[in-house]
Amino acid sequence: MTLLPLQRRRPLTRADVTEAEWFDWRWQLRHRLETVSDLAAFVTLSEEERRGMQAASKLFRVGTTPYYAALMDPENRHCPIRMQVIPLAQEASVSRGEYVDPLGEDGLSPAPSIVHRYPDRVLLLALDRCAVYCRHCNRRRMVGQDDGVISRIDLEAALDYIRRTPQIRDVLISGGDPLTLLTEKLEWIISSVRAIAHVDFIRIGTRVPVCLPMRIDAELCAMLRKYHPLYINTHFNHPKEVTVEARAACEQLADAGIPLGNQTVLLRGVNSQARTIETLNRALLRMRVRPYYLFQGDPVTGTDHLRTPVGAGIEIMNQLRGRVTGMAIPHLVIDAPGGGGKIPIGPNYVLQSGNGEWLLRNYENKMVRYVEPEERDCSCPYDEVYFN
Ligand SMILES: *Cc1c(COP(=O)(O)O)cnc(C)c1O
Repeated sequence: MTLLPLQRRRPLTRADVTEAEWFDWRWQLRHRLETVSDLAAFVTLSEEERRGMQAASKLFRVGTTPYYAALMDPENRHCPIRMQVIPLAQEASVSRGEYVDPLGEDGLSPAPSIVHRYPDRVLLLALDRCAVYCRHCNRRRMVGQDDGVISRIDLEAALDYIRRTPQIRDVLISGGDPLTLLTEKLEWIISSVRAIAHVDFIRIGTRVPVCLPMRIDAELCAMLRKYHPLYINTHFNHPKEVTVEARAACEQLADAGIPLGNQTVLLRGVNSQARTIETLNRALLRMRVRPYYLFQGDPVTGTDHLRTPVGAGIEIMNQLRGRVTGMAIPHLVIDAPGGGGKIPIGPNYVLQSGNGEWLLRNYENKMVRYVEPEERDCSCPYDEVYFN
């Protein structure tokens, strides 16, 4: 079978490839678009984007699946898909307060591929490949280097660390994108973690439902469901990403009994308005994905132009509260530069407190007074029995 050339066809549509190819996730990964001429098959590149490709594509990897590229607006450079995939020249400059390793992960690594920040949970970085290389990636220092999966020796060392650290209750498999691994390789990792008795549950962080939804197939779901309790957090940033295919992917995972969460990164001009986040979160709930975190952009090198003022995120939260169900309201957090962990921020609803009274405001800015009960001790006497 001969593949039709991807370059210089505008636009590459499903008509250029067979349906079987388009819906084959390995085909999608093999045909990732990485160069100006690849991208020019899908969009009319603006001058800024051309300069960005020249200035930044050697510093930080560029790449997108044809599926995700097909969501791009061919003419409008402000398209949220384009802004997440195609670099601008500003990416090549380092701004005040930016770091190569913004979360200090390299310093929190007691074993290969492990990041241990909190007492009860670890990150396991299983590979450095993604389906799409995001312009806001906070692990761009390591992701996309050689498309490698963690070696068996390193994985054994990582598993050993988890085995001998009984405080670890939760292992978050990330990378890179774990769902771009072959099912057998992924199963080898998941089953090894599952075999550790003190691990209560496993989580996977993945952008595959957004960028490579055809990867979520019956074979993968049948494998994953053997290792419950298993949770998946995905990474939708804009309602334009919620396609028929993405929806089918999320629903298959949910049908396999996997609770789904979403982690959005605030990006200036992509989703920096309450309307965008509200529309996205409503769309996520319709496909059984619960908004989990809304991240202030990490100060990673070359992302100044994509980050928002902290106040913009707080204002979004202020506008969401009350207007939408609490189910659609994520935690707004700043992941502390240098490795302090996630810090919640948000609007202030407490105006004053003291003398057993709290003066609060509601979402309509109405003042409310809450009078506390008489001061009494809050111990739980039955727990003295229950926990013994
Ligand atoms: C975000 C993160 C986690 C998971 O945090 P949760 O609040 O449990 O989702 C764990 N380890 C590291 C290093 C992290 O950055």
